[in-house]
Amino acid sequence: MASPYLVDTHCHLGDAAFEPDRDDVLTRARAAGIGHVVAIGESLAGSERAVALARGRQGLSATAGVHPHEAREWSPATAARVRELLTAPEVVAVGETGLDYHYLHAPRESQRAAFEAQLAFGVELGKPVVVHNRESDADMAAILRGFEKAPPVVVLHSFSSGDDVWDAGLGINAYFSFSGMITFKNWNRTDRLSACPPDRLLVETDAPYLAPGPWRGKRNEPAYVRYVAEKLAEIRGRPLAEMAAITTANAARLFRWEL
Ligand SMILES: [Zn+2]
Repeated sequence: MASPYLVDTHCHLGDAAFEPDRDDVLTRARAAGIGHVVAIGESLAGSERAVALARGRQGLSATAGVHPHEAREWSPATAARVRELLTAPEVVAVGETGLDYHYLHAPRESQRAAFEAQLAFGVELGKPVVVHNRESDADMAAILRGFEKAPPVVVLHSFSSGDDVWDAGLGINAYFSFSGMITFKNWNRTDRLSACPPDRLLVETDAPYLAPGPWRGKRNEPAYVRYVAEKLAEIRGRPLAEMAAITTANAARLFRWEL
């Protein structure tokens, strides 16, 4: 069977882990049927790197934003540069932003301020916002529910949150992006995989992190997004080709690509 056409909607391609062999990684992805990779910006420098990687490259796009771990670097100058990057044609989304109260690399207040500012960019510029959430469900759900006007299009990335965030996400018609976590033996929320509306489903690697099943603990890479799609297909009882077609069409609609 030919490889299905899949999209890795979330890869930290600019990470130092890919420095030695980034081109080989992309070649392997192509060979595995991964037609498009979204390179995620997680800091100002990381966003500059992601944008530079994607510029003029077919099958590569970038995001620009500041991760909650880096929220201390959010300032008027950072915000202005992120906003500028967001207007570049290869930049398809804001982020990665969000909240992370597990590591608390930045204080909660700084995380919330940076997150809300980036959500506002999503509304203003009409671009989706890629959202990270870890152990911050109450604040995350409150923020997602709190939009007075139309919310931005939100992607809940590497989704593994509780009911509160799930319900808030459904309430604003968010996309749910699943990662290699769904292949881990301790993943006990297969109900999420079945219940997610088909037009809101996405797959991602979050590489170099969260390598799926057989590669757990090793460096992850875009080619492995196939394992995520296979798990999704298994749980939803659908053929892999159909899951690939659905998630790829969702990514194209979300990021406004021509297929
Ligand atoms: Zn990420």
